[in-house]
Amino acid sequence: MTLFLSERVRRGGRDLDLPGREEARANIHVGIDWLSSVSFGHINKIGRRVIVLGGGNTAMDCCRTSRRLGGEDVKVVVRSGFEEMKASPWEKEDALHEDIPILNFRVPKSFTHENGKLTGVVFEVVEAQYDDKGRRRLMPSGEPDEHYPCDDVLVAVGQENAFPWIERDIGLDFDEWGMPKVDEVTFQSTRPGVFFGGDAAFGPKNIIWAVAQGHDAAVSIHRYCQGEDVNDRPPPGFSLTSQKMGIHEWSYDNDVSNDARFRVPQRDKGESLKDVRLEVELGFDPKLGFAEAQRCLNCDVQTVFAEPLCIECDACVDICPVDCITFTEDGEEEDLRGRLNAPSLHLDQDLLVSNKLKTGRVMVKDEDVCLHCGLCAERCPTGAWDMQRFTLEMTHATAMTGGGACQAR
Ligand code: SF4
Ligand code: SF4
Repeated sequence: MTLFLSERVRRGGRDLDLPGREEARANIHVGIDWLSSVSFGHINKIGRRVIVLGGGNTAMDCCRTSRRLGGEDVKVVVRSGFEEMKASPWEKEDALHEDIPILNFRVPKSFTHENGKLTGVVFEVVEAQYDDKGRRRLMPSGEPDEHYPCDDVLVAVGQENAFPWIERDIGLDFDEWGMPKVDEVTFQSTRPGVFFGGDAAFGPKNIIWAVAQGHDAAVSIHRYCQGEDVNDRPPPGFSLTSQKMGIHEWSYDNDVSNDARFRVPQRDKGESLKDVRLEVELGFDPKLGFAEAQRCLNCDVQTVFAEPLCIECDACVDICPVDCITFTEDGEEEDLRGRLNAPSLHLDQDLLVSNKLKTGRVMVKDEDVCLHCGLCAERCPTGAWDMQRFTLEMTHATAMTGGGACQAR
């Protein structure tokens, strides 16, 4: 039997054990649990004044949901500075847009209450100080504590591992933070046949990581079930396909616009705040979607060079708008970089160096500088340059035969 554990079995919202927590418990909620209760329809209202503690995306969900369930005076209060908050920048922007102030450098000290009812939260005001190694510490600022009255508090200060149900003597090792020890390639734990992925394996990232890790773990699980070595993994497949459709005609658009990213249009605030189930982002309409697509830099379309076809006419050198093609004598990389037409500024970016051409020179192209515009391929009289679309096909678990992988979804 194999077992794969991912995010859903892992997380539990962290609570804040501060003075007053017990007495005021009826109006202090763990954010992630509260959100799930809202989602399942068990909760449909909250007090008028709400304080959300925490600076991550869960805190942003809590404050924006509160605004939709009756919270008129909703604040987010965070220990860290605004820039260091874990929430995505666009989530913070959206919260501010919904009139939710974010108060930074405030550490909760206690919950105040009267007759068993929450009345507010006391905060210590701190400031960031940095040691010689640039490590940040939050130190008391010396300013007086602040008290913010409220009717409800949502605690969104992180989530904890939730593996208390796994016995510690079954050959499954955990690290000092209670996270399982997991191989980063195979996703197998120290107990063969038990695999982890997503937040359960390496802590919070995003859903894209979790899905990719699920695919990789599935390859391991398949091999494990076949009695094969999980470390022996089939490589991904790839293909290059010419984008030439006719003379001077490509199947991709190389007229890239310099527009900044377009904002996704949102529903009117007055309307969206009335209904927690109304989607806020309306998506692009066709016109805006097209404009956004024009920003694509065609990174997947590669310049492919065929030495035998090149007659060294230098036409591609002349036409390249960023001077990233150089025909020169061969040499060591450092020497070559010093002889390129365009200065080579990023040494960690590869150079494409051809085999020797008829004159004994080589063609060198700095991949860091290339715009993927295709002008070199359009201009080349012999077709020595071609623009080809690169497709990567990751290995997916499915019927794997003879050591190869049958790709299937
Ligand atoms: S694709 Fe454009 S930028 Fe890149 S080498 Fe060719 S002409 Fe130069
Ligand atoms: S335009 Fe074509 S033939 Fe001429 S130098 Fe460039 S790659 Fe070679």
